[in-house]
Amino acid sequence: MFEKLALIGIGLIGSSIARAVRQKGLARHIAITTRKRETLEEARTLGLGDSYTLDAADAVRDADLVILCTPVGAYGPVMEDIAANLMPGAILSDVGSVKQHVMKVIEPLLPQGIHFIPGHPLAGTEHSGPAAGFPELFVNRWCVLTPAPGTDPVAIARLTAFWGALGSNVESMDAEHHDLVLAITSHVPHLIAYNIVGTVADLEADTQSEVIKFSASGFRDFTRIAASDPVMWRDVFLTNREAVLEMLGRFLEDLSRLQRAVRVGDGPAMEALFTRTRAIRRSIITAGQETAAPDFGRPHGTSEAATPVPPPPSVPELGIREHGGGEDA
Ligand code: NAP
Repeated sequence: MFEKLALIGIGLIGSSIARAVRQKGLARHIAITTRKRETLEEARTLGLGDSYTLDAADAVRDADLVILCTPVGAYGPVMEDIAANLMPGAILSDVGSVKQHVMKVIEPLLPQGIHFIPGHPLAGTEHSGPAAGFPELFVNRWCVLTPAPGTDPVAIARLTAFWGALGSNVESMDAEHHDLVLAITSHVPHLIAYNIVGTVADLEADTQSEVIKFSASGFRDFTRIAASDPVMWRDVFLTNREAVLEMLGRFLEDLSRLQRAVRVGDGPAMEALFTRTRAIRRSIITAGQETAAPDFGRPHGTSEAATPVPPPPSVPELGIREHGGGEDA
């Protein structure tokens, strides 16, 4: 239990934390701060916190847990605002989708006596803003912490327990490893989705309306990912450039190989690859990170809901036990 939780940014992730913390009674007081007055008023109308202010420095005063929930590009200015008001002994964390950049920005601005523990819940949807959040967002999802060596183990244990109480499975790892794994599991797939949907957006009007009219599962599923928040994703690609380029390079090599297989009609090569990829899909379902329901559990003429998923065991093939559902970053 924390005395005062300060949430800086109250969009999908911040408001989901606020709702879950309230539901589970994990903080005596929830202070909410954000950039725009209309967003703050929306959070107030939704009853997400106990106090509301546009002044981030005011929100963090006396807070024993502060979580940055803005796009990562805003972290520098936010830190400059709040640093002097952070309470000695407080835990400062975040939810940003990249970790090396976040540490590089925050560490030089960190006052003595603050326990900085970067975090990333691997959970999300393609929706944004205070109304988009829900308290179950983190249940059965992974939350990765990337504390620097030497971080106070008691503070790490407190934050681990906090995310555990929100329903997450928590794992600590090196920030560099986090960024590389997320580049291939989340960032490059988003880039591919933005690109393929962008290709359709550039088609002539008549072809485009045919694509939209006859949109089948492949393209339709890409559009859901490509509807994710533009500012947040801009910041991901600005701040995890090297890992994304590394993974994109490997992807393009493999795509060229596949292009050749299609061109020369190499059926066995294609079948062998598609068999391996099907096994990866199965292992993600077995890991409890996806539903086995056909067509992602979309109802087809009935009101059936997606099959609930069990808690995730490990997925050694991917080198990390993860990863969240929805359009997590
Ligand atoms: P969101 O719904 O767009 O919310 C962002 C919040 O940050 C809003 O309250 C916004 O408030 C505020 N904000 C934006 N720019 C700001 C600035 N310059 N200064 C202060 N506040 C600012 O975004 P989100 O999906 O919750 O994402 C927030 C963080 O979570 C990002 O760092 C992202 O990388 C990470 N994350 C996202 C997902 C996902 O799937 N969405 C998953 C895991 C982690 P105003 O309206 O007042 O500007």
